[in-house]
Amino acid sequence: MRVLIAEDDTISRMVLRRAVEKFGHECLVAEDGEKAWKLFQDTPEVDVVISDWMMPGIEGPELCRRVREANGDWYTFFIFLTALGDKEHLLEGMQAGADDYLAKPLDREQLQVRLIAASRVNSLHRQLNEQKMKLENLNRELFVTSRRDPLTRLGNRLQLREDLETMSAQAERYGHSYCAILCDIDCFKAYNDHYGHLAGDGVLEKVAEVISGNLRAGDSSYRYGGEEFLIILPEQSLESASIAAERLRRGIEALSIIHEAKTPPGVLTISLGLAVLQPGEKKPAETLLKEADAALYKAKEAGRNRVAVYEDTNKASNAP
Ligand code: GH3
Ligand code: MG
Ligand code: MG
Ligand code: MG
Repeated sequence: MRVLIAEDDTISRMVLRRAVEKFGHECLVAEDGEKAWKLFQDTPEVDVVISDWMMPGIEGPELCRRVREANGDWYTFFIFLTALGDKEHLLEGMQAGADDYLAKPLDREQLQVRLIAASRVNSLHRQLNEQKMKLENLNRELFVTSRRDPLTRLGNRLQLREDLETMSAQAERYGHSYCAILCDIDCFKAYNDHYGHLAGDGVLEKVAEVISGNLRAGDSSYRYGGEEFLIILPEQSLESASIAAERLRRGIEALSIIHEAKTPPGVLTISLGLAVLQPGEKKPAETLLKEADAALYKAKEAGRNRVAVYEDTNKASNAP
């Protein structure tokens, strides 16, 4: 262990140092509290501090408090040196954060006992820290995986809900706009029935790849349902979002995945529904998603493999 001795009495310091070194530990010595504190700060991973109570400059209890405050993940076992008959200080020392005490004059066996205890306590602290770090890493991983769809690696509904909350808040506060594109694979049930579920899974992965490969920085994509994907495009006009949607539609078509089971047979396609939240418009995210869904329905009705834009029919009929 690395042991720091803080003791202003020369003889006592020498005796202590020799004993600590004899037990096979590395020793750092300081003749007052100020130097001890500096040495502690400059030395990484001090395992044990053995400190006198009364010293010029910083006294023992203050040194102990500073060591405790400085201890982050690394634990330093703190031992007070007390003159015999000075027992009333013990409680104060322990309350300042000390772990144990040693009576002066030094008894080597007592020192050895304290150092064994110190080594045991420190290794327990280290184990705890390792476990804490493992748990923190696991938590981080869990946070990420619980927000991903395992098949397509896109965000899942949980991620979507959190992102929509953030985006809605920003839209409300700063008048930001955003578009939603809902995509649905055409005649996918027939594809699954004909080629099997595993082949269907492969298609979902490929479609997801095209979607994420076509996004611009700031856009996000999610697996919305079985064979449905949602894309959120912040700060985009209806025109630019329409262009993005059309690019996606063509991208999927260009995969040229043969789909013999649909009528007429051809390649696999998607239909897309687009809805927009205009700058300054007050509209809940759920409404925007419903509108994208209505537009998607329109695209399906119109014959699939196309992009449809949501139009507010109320607005249109009320217009002069
Ligand atoms: P439409 O063009 O109207 O969208 O027709 P569709 O057949 O695509 O729509 P429908 O809702 O009838 O069927 C969706 C299919 O998607 C049914 C289901 O088996 C399939 N599906 C959903 N999730 C998965 C999945 O994780 N893996 C696979 N392989 N298939 C899935
Ligand atoms: Mg002293
Ligand atoms: Mg569907
Ligand atoms: Mg479908």
